[in-house]
Order: sequence, then structure tokens, then C-alpha cells
Amino acid sequence: MKKHNFNAGPSILPRIALENSAKAILELNGTGLSLLEISHRSKDFQAILDETVALFHELLNIPSGYQIIFLGGGASMQFCMIPYNFLNKKAAYLETGVWAQKAIKEAKFFGDVNVVASSSDKNFNYIPTGYAIPGDADYFHITTNNTIYGSEIHTDIDSPVPLIADMSSDILSRPVDISKYSMIYGGAQKNLGPAGVTFVILKEEMLGKVERKIPSMLSYATHTKEPSLYNTPPVFAIYTCLETLRWIKGLGGVKVVEAMNIKKANLLYDAIDNSKMFVGTVAKKDRSLMNICFVMKDEYKDKEDGFMEFAKTLGMIGIKGHRSVGGFRASTYNALPFESVQALVDAMHAFEATNA
Ligand SMILES: *Cc1c(COP(=O)(O)O)cnc(C)c1O
Repeated sequence: MKKHNFNAGPSILPRIALENSAKAILELNGTGLSLLEISHRSKDFQAILDETVALFHELLNIPSGYQIIFLGGGASMQFCMIPYNFLNKKAAYLETGVWAQKAIKEAKFFGDVNVVASSSDKNFNYIPTGYAIPGDADYFHITTNNTIYGSEIHTDIDSPVPLIADMSSDILSRPVDISKYSMIYGGAQKNLGPAGVTFVILKEEMLGKVERKIPSMLSYATHTKEPSLYNTPPVFAIYTCLETLRWIKGLGGVKVVEAMNIKKANLLYDAIDNSKMFVGTVAKKDRSLMNICFVMKDEYKDKEDGFMEFAKTLGMIGIKGHRSVGGFRASTYNALPFESVQALVDAMHAFEATNA
């Protein structure tokens, strides 16, 4: 049976990226060697790294003055590297979910943390507005897409201090005005590639801002000086990211992908909004294009397990909501085909026809 992969992360990748990565494991471009058997300092790997960086620049329209580096440790490692490298006295954070909270926790090891606003009062089902960003903060940290709760910041906000964004789950899902950010980072395993590599887009003027001594591996200066090659980078994960970037370029770029994402999300949100049984959990204006969260209405709560079972028989994978929200979460990342969303919507209609 065809599987419809709605996993939240690691998650669906373009089929062609998987096929080409599998080939590169067996033999890289006629070299007679596996991608996994060559030096990360070889000409062949340098070409892979250079193309990956170049495609990032091209697809996201990154202006000069920024570097892109690939690191290990996941987005979670960035939660501590950011304050280690940039927090002198005080940093500002927007609390929009569990990932933001984890970033806040790490920043507190390094200085004062000003949480400018939080949506914890409503189980993070909206994006706070109307907050003030302190002008004396060293930076302002946001999570643009809240993977667990399904809320998303849809615009590039203006910040009076350097803006740093965790874009783990919405990178390359829409065009971004990079010039408004001093740093953008994320784990690859949601929308870009396999687990094991973290991308960091860093404005060079952010370097050298703190007095403290930083261990080499945790210092951005180390990794920008010898871009992504201070130590052995996650070579395989980087290669698959490159294949995903080539796929996006082949489609026509991020604007095309955004249009596809809007079409998919509209299909599912419309089905939810017009449903007798299902209801969305997030404030409409803040609903994510990447992680679509919904539950059964109170009078049908006891049918949630039944729908889960029914959907499973139709090949739906990974639609169980995170335990902190319950119900359902359909992750509709770039690589998820429209047909999979249509199949889920059809399943919802079929279930309603016999259960509502
Ligand atoms: C998954 C996720 C993380 C954690 O990523 P790791 O690479 O597992 O550390 C951080 N932030 C967001 C928004 C995520 O979705």
C-alpha cells in the first residue's frame, strides 16, 4: 500500500534526493569510491560543500556579509552556542513553545533572559503580538515555526537588536528576507535532509561580540574561519541536503515551493474548518503551513482512536498529535505530495460519513 508520510521529523524527503543519495553511497560520480569513503578535505567533497553553500545563497537570496556553515549537535546545540557566543548581559526571547523554552533555558546559563512575551497561557496555540523588544538586549531570539503546536510566524519581523531565528521546521518553505536576521539556524531533519547536520546562516558582523573564552568547537569563529571543515562534518547528511536543494531549484525555487505549501495547507485547513467532527487547535492567522494540528470536537472526543486506526488502514503515517496537544498533527513539509494531503482529507470525509 502507498504510504502517506506525515511524520514531524525526521520526515519525508524528496524521492529523488533519496535515490541520488543511495547512489552516492555506492559510488560518488564515477570516482570508484563511496561518498562515505573519501576525505572530507578531498576535491570531490569540497565540490559538494561548495555547491550546497552556493544553492543556499541562491535559493534564499542571501546577501553578502553572511556565511553558511554546517555543524553537528542538532538545533539543540545552537540553543547553548547562541548565548555562549552572543550574550554579554541580556538577551530577549519570544516564548512560543517547547523549543523556545529549551533555548531560553540554555541562555539563562550565560546572562539575563528577558522573555518579551509568551503564549503559554493558551498551550502555545497563537503567536503573541504587541510586545516590546528591549533596545539594550544583545539579540532577540524567535522560533519561526512551532513544530509541536502548529503555529508559525509568517512574516519577517523588524527587530531593533540582532534577530536570531530557529527555522528548523520551516526553512526553505517560503522566501525569507535574510537581511532582517543576524542568524538563522535549524536541524536538517524536518525540511531539508537527514538528522545529523545543522545549518547556520550567520551575519559575519556577529562574530567577536563577547569577551568570554569559548571552547573551539562551540565557537562560531572556529567554524567560519575554516567553513564547515574545522573537524569532520556530517558528510552524508550534507550530501542529501544538497540533493534536496537541487530538487527545489529544479522545481523553480522557494516561491514555487511556497505556492505548493499554501495549496496543500489550504486543502487540509478547509477540510478541518468545514468539518462536523474535527476542529483546528491554532488561532487562524497564526496557523502553520508545515505542521497542521487538529482534534475532534468535544462531542466526538471518543472517536479519535477510531479515526487513527481508520487512517492507518489507508496508509497514513505519523498523524498522531504530540502528547502535549493531543489529537492529530499532519506535517506537510516541502517534500510531501499534494496527493497525500488529498488522501488524508478523503479519509476524514469518509470517516465523517459513517461516524458524525
Ligand atoms: C526539531 C526541532 C528542534 C530540535 O532539533 P534537534 O536537531 O533534534 O536538536 C529545535 N527547534 C525546532 C523548531 C524543531 O522543530
